[in-house]
Amino acid sequence: MARVLPHGDMEKIVSLSKRRGFIFQSSEIYGGLGSTWDYGPLGVELKRNVKDAWWRSVIIERDDMVGLDAAILMHPRVWEASGHVENFSDPLVECKSCNRRFRSDQLESDNCPECGGEFTEARRFNLMFHTFMGPVEDTSHEVFLRPETAQGIFVNFANVVNSTRKKIPFGIAQIGKSFRNEITPGNFTFRTREFEQMEAEFFVKPGTDESWLMKWVKDRFDWYISYGIRQENLRLRRHDPDELAHYAKDTYDIEYRFPWGWGELEGIADRTDFDLRRHAEFSGEDLTYFDDESKERYTPYVIEPSGGVDRATLAFWLDSYDEEEDGNATRVVLHLHRKLAPVTVALLPLSRNERLASTALGIYDLLRKHFNTQFDDAQSIGRRYRRQDEIGTPYCVTVDFDTLDDQQVTIRDRDTMYQVRIPVAQLVEVLQDKIEHGW
Ligand code: ATP
Repeated sequence: MARVLPHGDMEKIVSLSKRRGFIFQSSEIYGGLGSTWDYGPLGVELKRNVKDAWWRSVIIERDDMVGLDAAILMHPRVWEASGHVENFSDPLVECKSCNRRFRSDQLESDNCPECGGEFTEARRFNLMFHTFMGPVEDTSHEVFLRPETAQGIFVNFANVVNSTRKKIPFGIAQIGKSFRNEITPGNFTFRTREFEQMEAEFFVKPGTDESWLMKWVKDRFDWYISYGIRQENLRLRRHDPDELAHYAKDTYDIEYRFPWGWGELEGIADRTDFDLRRHAEFSGEDLTYFDDESKERYTPYVIEPSGGVDRATLAFWLDSYDEEEDGNATRVVLHLHRKLAPVTVALLPLSRNERLASTALGIYDLLRKHFNTQFDDAQSIGRRYRRQDEIGTPYCVTVDFDTLDDQQVTIRDRDTMYQVRIPVAQLVEVLQDKIEHGW
């Protein structure tokens, strides 16, 4: 089966990505904008499926979670309270010869890796993007593009408690864009300046935080496995005490073995009561919680699983990529989980013969009401299977001349290439069952 892609293979992936419409360089016709990417017709479906899978697992399938969609622009005081104005910075050095800039904590040598020149002293560089609200551009109108979605949740804590009557332990989750003016973005969509996050803030009684942290770490780790990432390419890494963020008591990173090495997909942090306490202090509002059971009032502690949509999408995609020998040819196939694949079913009439076309189109209409379905009648059936394998379509349905007589079609499984023939009347039900339970 599949393996870890060697570093050099990233070029292959980037080229497949462009050729088939997964990811394009942003503003490409103008020469592109550094480290910004656009998701094409297949990429957008893959990414939506990743977000849906997360939303289902973190919110819909649990009783103790609700969703939220907070604005990107927030009151500037939010970022003072959260500590981002003061702390959200990386150490920046500049080469005195070529003027290139680097994050000093990521450098392996004391000299510039580009020209060998000497560096300036490191200075702190704040990663928040800022802009102005309204037509006046002065500091009193300055606002930030959020560098994390989490703060939108903390400032709505009381609104959610009052409107949903949720009892602790419970959590609030959201998916949305975040922005960081990274000094050294790169590795395709791994590190960009505009990206999407999937974050949950789970509010617990102080003292129960450590066991909740471990429960979330396990749940989140298992989620990546259940959607197809192989265990040997995933690992947990606990933060060293000197590595912890200013708000965190303990943190575990879930890391994926990317072609360039291990990289973080998601961090699960024990944020204690830092955020609610700070927002209470800065806003003057009461953000404590009265616990009916223990008759105590306290500021809840928070467990935060915080993952990147783009990084998860990239990891699912890379881990699914394989090249298999097929006679004299190579079959490029994405073994994407059937619920993540951008196209779920391909409807392939054996030929363009008119008698087949109307039956095939009828079945296509039926399928597309239930599944993301693609119709393809161009070129040989073998080529069409390869085209679908390359984008990870789990099921191909073939309509042939026998279909006209026996009202049956053939379903082909992408991974095993097994085929079964079943009545059209059972097609939707059979596919739904296979999508739910596998082939
Ligand atoms: P890193 O150490 O890689 O910079 P981080 O620890 O700063 O990441 P967090 O603040 O924990 O990241 O953000 C939560 C998640 O958001 C990360 O696990 C990652 O998946 C995603 N993320 C953070 N920064 C970026 C970025 N620049 N581009 C894409 N995704 C990002």
